[in-house]
Amino acid sequence: MDLTSILWFSVLLQVFAAIMALRLIPFTGKAIAWIILSMAFILMASRRAISLLRQEGIVDGEWLTAMTTEIVALVISLLIVVGVFMIRGVFLKKTLDEDELRKLSQVVEQTSSSTIITDLEGNIEYVNQKFTEITGYELDEIKGKPTNFLNSGKTRPEVFVNMWKTIQAGRVWIGEFCNECKNGTLRWEKARVSPVRDGEEKITHYVAVLEDVTEQRAQREALEYMAMHDSLTDLPNRALFYDRVYQAILGAEHNKSSVAVLLMDLNHFKVINDTLGHHIGDQILKEVANRLLRTVKTYDTVARMGGDEFLVLLSDVQHEQASRIAKRLSEAVQEPFVIAGHNFDIDMSIGIAMYPQNGDDPDVLIQRSDVAMYSAKSRSTGIAMYDPDLDDYSVGRLELLGEVRNALEAEQFCVHYQPRMDLFTMEMEGVEALVRWMHPKRGIIYPDNFIPILEETGHITVLTRWIIKKAIEQLALWRNLNPEFIMSINISTRDLCDQKLSEYIAENLKFFDVPPSAIILEITESSLMQYSRYTYSTIDSLDELGIKLAIDDFGTGYSSLQYLKVLPVSELKIDKSFVMNMLDDEDDAVIVRSTIDLGHNLGLDVVAEGVEDEETSKILQILNCNHAQGYHFSKAVEEGVITKMITGENNIFKLQNEEEINNSQVS
Ligand code: C2E
Ligand code: CA
Ligand code: CA
Repeated sequence: MDLTSILWFSVLLQVFAAIMALRLIPFTGKAIAWIILSMAFILMASRRAISLLRQEGIVDGEWLTAMTTEIVALVISLLIVVGVFMIRGVFLKKTLDEDELRKLSQVVEQTSSSTIITDLEGNIEYVNQKFTEITGYELDEIKGKPTNFLNSGKTRPEVFVNMWKTIQAGRVWIGEFCNECKNGTLRWEKARVSPVRDGEEKITHYVAVLEDVTEQRAQREALEYMAMHDSLTDLPNRALFYDRVYQAILGAEHNKSSVAVLLMDLNHFKVINDTLGHHIGDQILKEVANRLLRTVKTYDTVARMGGDEFLVLLSDVQHEQASRIAKRLSEAVQEPFVIAGHNFDIDMSIGIAMYPQNGDDPDVLIQRSDVAMYSAKSRSTGIAMYDPDLDDYSVGRLELLGEVRNALEAEQFCVHYQPRMDLFTMEMEGVEALVRWMHPKRGIIYPDNFIPILEETGHITVLTRWIIKKAIEQLALWRNLNPEFIMSINISTRDLCDQKLSEYIAENLKFFDVPPSAIILEITESSLMQYSRYTYSTIDSLDELGIKLAIDDFGTGYSSLQYLKVLPVSELKIDKSFVMNMLDDEDDAVIVRSTIDLGHNLGLDVVAEGVEDEETSKILQILNCNHAQGYHFSKAVEEGVITKMITGENNIFKLQNEEEINNSQVS
């Protein structure tokens, strides 16, 4: 290659690089590459040319100097081009940025959505007319300000963090903000924030297109609220309660403190609902909710689990404190309710489970408080702490619930009979029918463990009818042996709502030819007190039939004696808890004595239950108590054993152990 062509070639490259440099913006990167390349080529070519010339000896000192000068000039001119390119680059970029912004804002101006264009720092460069209409801010007053002056404080900070991360990474972010307008109104806006790029893919702006979603959001929030709250009482529901327990456990884990979960169930609420109607029931539930809320601190959670069950979450409490609060809650509900001019007395059973002692998971705690509640209910203690010993039983309870219907169909229930003594003649005058569940796997189950379940599920009325029929049929047989023989049958609160109960009894009495006077229906004092108007109509029709009524567990219910005068009651059964302790406890002795006197003054028969020894029996005789029942005479036994007692084959005083007797006597 001769020197002239090398020089021409390098000039050509130089021109090309200059043209590239002038086109700058789109080709900046490539132009630089061209310039560097051409410079390298020129240097390389020049060195090659010089060495060629030297070899051929055509080079003299002057020529060399000229050549070197030419190369230096070339390099300098190239440097100048680069310099110009850089200065013009910055300048051109800016004008092009503005150009871009102008074009962008023209597009944005036309859109019907409120739109903001910001620089890379989030400072407002442009807002459209729609934005001004909605927010009340003119472009002039907010230009250059960071967008966060719009922030109402209701958007969670992590939303912004997330937005910046996304858009800085060059992606589009979609989310919701709550913005504050100039006049202070708050608006939820769905924003679509997109990075805007230049021709070289560099982000130059951000554009946020905002859409008002205040209404949708309000609707969504209402739906969410509904999903998390009980519509009747407005209390959190089970799902929200679960979440709160979860949070409380996390907090307690951190602070090394305890949490209590209380599950409360109103006793006999179903009867109120069934007899007085849902309207009254609902009002009572609302009032219960208010009372519970008033009793606990604002940061504690009161929730409705469903039906007549409520939940309370207490944070940072120990056992004793939880029990104390449970007691206060219980007292708050015991205050009489006055609804639609009627007075109602309601009480509830409360079960307590503690974190960390009883579990570290909301499900477990709620389930265990249920176990404790059920224990409180079946033992009538009002309040119970979870105890792991209860658990076998609770698992059993759930199974029992499922098995109850089956048990009725499979005829797994049977009736045992406990003799009842005439304390004057010291002879067995009759029996009390007591139901048992002969469970194929669990063996014999006593009524306290399943009657409450049957009451809850409404199956009790079916069982009661079955017992009544069975008992009357058996009584007819015994009355053939002893025509004076009588039978007490227990009926539960819910049975009093069975409008056809008296009719059913009448049919059976007629069918088995037993006079109504041979039957005594036992109703507990507390259930009698609860649902006055409605229970009375059933009681009245039973009275019209000539059936006697006994008040069971007398002394454990309410103190008002008013109803004794009103109701057609013929006997009082003193609760066994007083009778069993009357030898040791003076208070109990006083209660027994005064109940006997009270009964006699009102012309009622008095039965003492729970007579476990000779001495008690003797004292009761002295106190003029008419009748007695208890292990001292006999436990409840199968019908065959009673038959032998009536015929004199068995001596009643020797038969005290229910299972022993049944095992030895009955085939
Ligand atoms: P209740 O009507 O008060 O029946 C007396 C309970 O005390 C019976 O328990 C009986 O076995 C027990 N008992 C009798 N004498 C003594 C004694 O000397 N000492 C002690 N410690 N206990 C004695 P049971 O059979 O377990 O019945 C418990 C409760 O279940 C009954 O209490 C009654 O309220 C209910 N119940 C029993 N059978 C029926 C029924 O057929 N229908 C309904 N609705 N409830 C029933
Ligand atoms: Ca009874
Ligand atoms: Ca009793």
